[in-house]
Amino acid sequence: MRISAALLRWYDRARRDLPWRRETSPYRTLVSELMAQQTTLAVVVPYFQRFMARFPSLQALADASDEEVMAHWSGLGYYARARNLRRAAVAAVAEHGGALPDTEEALRRLPGVGPYTAAAVASIAFGARTFALDGNGLRVLSRLFAVEEAIDRPATRARLRELGTAEVPAARPGDFNQSVMELGALVCTPRHPRCDECPVARACAAHTRGMTATLPRRSPKPARPVVRVACALVTDGARLLLVKRGGGLLRGTWTLPEREADPAQAPAAARALAADAGLRAQAVDRRGVVRQIFTHRDVRAEVFRIEVGRARRAPGADLRWVSPAALGELGLSNYARKTIAVGLGQKPDNPAFRP
Ligand code: SF4
Repeated sequence: MRISAALLRWYDRARRDLPWRRETSPYRTLVSELMAQQTTLAVVVPYFQRFMARFPSLQALADASDEEVMAHWSGLGYYARARNLRRAAVAAVAEHGGALPDTEEALRRLPGVGPYTAAAVASIAFGARTFALDGNGLRVLSRLFAVEEAIDRPATRARLRELGTAEVPAARPGDFNQSVMELGALVCTPRHPRCDECPVARACAAHTRGMTATLPRRSPKPARPVVRVACALVTDGARLLLVKRGGGLLRGTWTLPEREADPAQAPAAARALAADAGLRAQAVDRRGVVRQIFTHRDVRAEVFRIEVGRARRAPGADLRWVSPAALGELGLSNYARKTIAVGLGQKPDNPAFRP
């Protein structure tokens, strides 16, 4: 039996019930695909539902402010995606009459829509016979075809895309793509693939050759540099001072003021953060350390609570006084949530902490 037939039969039986599968539209497919990259579905589902309730159409998203979109993305990570999603909605309204274009090529021209997302939306929403290669697909295909080259190499990805494309059936290409992703998420998992439950085990080269534990392979990664920062929860007794990030991965999100500093200089650096905003520290209290692994950095943030008097002047365009009760209205990264929690004397990973 062809791989696609076995996968589709399994998918019809085993696929998870997800809000964007229950009610489908190209827009819902686009949002779900962008939200689900690098994130577990358990996290994505409530975000997706809140997002759809507030922005039910491309027009509604195009009409919203960046600030509000970021607030609804707050905690999902990869914030450039949220900004680009809104820009894509603006482009769809301006250039395509408020709908998404229906070809992979035209989808690629929308802001923030890469090869994977364009192929996924084209196949799932418009029935295009194309292969969408994501992290799950890389793993599944490298095992199915026992590809031993490192999957992070462009040449290996191109080969895996070719192998996947050859399997895409003329009927139900979108379901086929989703079946590969679903197999990777539920059965062909990174550490312990459940080959005895796998619908394509008999066709799987890694399984028959006893290579499932060694595939996929990756190139050795250089160690992430450790970056130490001093982070200041500046408070006037009732409110916290937040700064809007002007660049980097967290651009556009709100965080506590911080700057790079060795542990020995961290208290002085934290005081200086308050002084930069025209505020004089009256009391400085070290609250703890937050560790956050980013793609290219391992950040250790030493958090200080700094009490200041009432501000005499407006803190500046990218600075804002916020009461703890209003934190939920801002776009906050998980990193910001953790540092604020520690600054407020709470546990950084307390799931109940939702500013
Ligand atoms: Fe993955 Fe095992 Fe299925 Fe092969 S047989 S695709 S390794 S789960």
